[in-house]
Amino acid sequence: MKVGALREVAEGEARVAVTPSSAAHLKKLGHEVLVEQGAGSRAGFSDDEYRAAGVEVLPTAAALTEAVDVLAKVRAPTDAELNRMHEGQTLISYITPASNPELLEAARARGVTTIAMDMVPRISRAQKMDALSSMANIAGYRAVIEAAANFGRFFTGQVTAAGKVPPAKVLVVGAGVAGLAAIGTATSLGAQVYAFDVRPEVAEQIESMGASFVYLDFAGAAQDGAATGGYAAPSSPEFQAKQLEKFRELAPQMDIVITTALIPGRPAPKLWTADMVAAMKPGSVIVDLAAERGGNCELTVADEKIVTENGVTIIGYTDFPSRMGAQASELYANNIRHFLSDLTPAKDGVINQNMDDDVIRGATVTHAGDVTFPPPPPKVQ
Ligand code: NAD
Repeated sequence: MKVGALREVAEGEARVAVTPSSAAHLKKLGHEVLVEQGAGSRAGFSDDEYRAAGVEVLPTAAALTEAVDVLAKVRAPTDAELNRMHEGQTLISYITPASNPELLEAARARGVTTIAMDMVPRISRAQKMDALSSMANIAGYRAVIEAAANFGRFFTGQVTAAGKVPPAKVLVVGAGVAGLAAIGTATSLGAQVYAFDVRPEVAEQIESMGASFVYLDFAGAAQDGAATGGYAAPSSPEFQAKQLEKFRELAPQMDIVITTALIPGRPAPKLWTADMVAAMKPGSVIVDLAAERGGNCELTVADEKIVTENGVTIIGYTDFPSRMGAQASELYANNIRHFLSDLTPAKDGVINQNMDDDVIRGATVTHAGDVTFPPPPPKVQ
């Protein structure tokens, strides 16, 4: 089959779905690989590097789309991109199918098979294809780097001849993939790190990374992560009140707050309120990784950096992985080529859309003239 990557059209999107090194792997699966001219330029991969890896470079998006059997992308396709596709082609990309029913219907009507990289089941066997995790890991790391650059003070404590510097205090709210990456990065920079999650089972992970888990004085039932497939469920009003009370107590002490709290399929819970921001010290920084879903902080503005009257910087960027475009592309392109490896079991360049396979079934959101989202629950964990 011919597998090709478009140049992303979204403003500020630096990533690309196929890199020269992932192309080499795709060729070993028996595929021919193509890219649109300039597809990798913002991630630092020149057309010549692609050519040197045996990739054909086509001059336009239209020519590329016409030539391929499998179209690989980072962002969900625009109408124009989808309208160029035809029956029998496969699209593999981020889709966010739950909030994109029109896109699913349009792809179905065109006879396109759509594979949503954000629907890869979170089971052990599929970790190598888990783009949500690979991108969240980068976002967590980059959030700390942005915080440090805007903080303008040391993260690590120092005792020098010129004076004593206390370590920065960092609070990470939400210890999923992004939160754990942020905790690891902040502790390695020498900060004193605190972290909170509604899933009590992460306390051990947080503590093993050298951070302190923030415990709530709460007698009611805590969240039961196991009942929700490892994801958080919405908190009870009593739990939420306790959580906010704790955050209110911590706000004046923290230099950096990194929020990553999300509940699948819902807007981000509002956990860092305006009065908490007002209680923070001037020079403190909040990085809100939930900005795209409305933000965990009440004052976050998506895609912007704002400074409040009391001198707190609030960063609501939604493009953290793209800010590390080369590496984000390598990891995302690896996720895609691993998926294609499962779709090409005989390594003969022939796609086998095996809908009995949990991972393929879970990620396939349109196929054979049907919308196949939502998928049935996976059989194997
Ligand atoms: P996510 O992005 O959906 O949410 C981020 C974090 O926010 C979660 O840890 C969640 O518990 C937390 N959160 C939600 N509401 C909160 C609140 N009110 N206060 C504080 N924290 C709150 O999560 P994710 O990073 O995608 O990971 C979710 C789960 O999936 C985790 O259990 C993770 O271990 C699991 N996972 C499994 C695999 C696998 O392949 N086995 C891969 C990746 C993730």
